[in-house]
Amino acid sequence: MFNKLLTGLLCTALLLPAAATADEVNVYSARKEKLIKPLLDQFTAATGIKVNLLTGKADALLKKLELEGENTPADLLITTDAGRLHRAQQAGVLQPVDSATLMAHIPLNMRDPEHYWFGLTYRARPIMYVKARVSPDELSTYEALTDETWKGRICIRSSSNIYNQSLVASMLASQSAEQTQDWANGLVQNFARPPKGGDRDQIKAAAAGQCDIAIANSYYYAAMLAGSDEAQRASAEKLAIFWPNQGADARGTHINISGAAVTKAAKHKDNAIKLLEYMTQDEAQRWYSDVNGEYPVKVGVAANELLQSWGEFKADTLNLSELGTHNAEALRIMDKAGWR
Ligand code: FE
Repeated sequence: MFNKLLTGLLCTALLLPAAATADEVNVYSARKEKLIKPLLDQFTAATGIKVNLLTGKADALLKKLELEGENTPADLLITTDAGRLHRAQQAGVLQPVDSATLMAHIPLNMRDPEHYWFGLTYRARPIMYVKARVSPDELSTYEALTDETWKGRICIRSSSNIYNQSLVASMLASQSAEQTQDWANGLVQNFARPPKGGDRDQIKAAAAGQCDIAIANSYYYAAMLAGSDEAQRASAEKLAIFWPNQGADARGTHINISGAAVTKAAKHKDNAIKLLEYMTQDEAQRWYSDVNGEYPVKVGVAANELLQSWGEFKADTLNLSELGTHNAEALRIMDKAGWR
């Protein structure tokens, strides 16, 4: 009797630490802590699963995952841009996930066809124009920005950034390489200045009179308008969004995602999937898209009021995995066009 009791106690004692460490999940996030931590805390409160968070720059985190290989502590990678998630998949650091919840909550074009990664929010990369110098009537498509009327009037960042690589990749998915090369050549001819800075810097340069058109991701514009920096708000207020490629036969405005993927070496795979699924629930979708100035992927969940005020638009329905498959060619084309 005593022996049985002792054995029972020992077993419990031996099992406890294992059970405690099993109820956690390790996350590498390219999203800044304040833009994700409250959501992770809610997940912990709802499930009892502790989340260990490491934040860093997107490209550095991917490199870290590759270097750590099987020894990585990371279970879930949260990052931005489908092009980058495709790179992670190609690097062999992700594993596919079978989840009916994710299939139901995330539109087909915003997740990997082989289930290696999943979109959590989306952002658009529209044309932004200086209201005092450009009428929206003059604008139509990305393609039309190569017209001579735009010579010396366009600001856009360098080709080394994945956002532009993905924009060019989206064009490659809808037209030939020759057409895309012509477009890139023409766009570069119309640059107001050699590319420099990030997306916000293009908006600031346009507001300051260095160009009349900026191409930038929608959440930067939202952050500038809604943020506490008066100068940035004043800059952004001089511009308006134009949704390109909206005609009946047009493919729609280029969009991209922020997303997540379970790592190949995940030691807490089930918990990582639970967290992914949690992030696609209505309330999580609302909070996460709102705080990041992005659109929720889940159909039926409304974007915040500021984004709604820009009006509805037709988004390109291209499967975003194609941004990854066309990435190398997009880079070659931009390079050949002299897009620095
Ligand atoms: Fe960004």
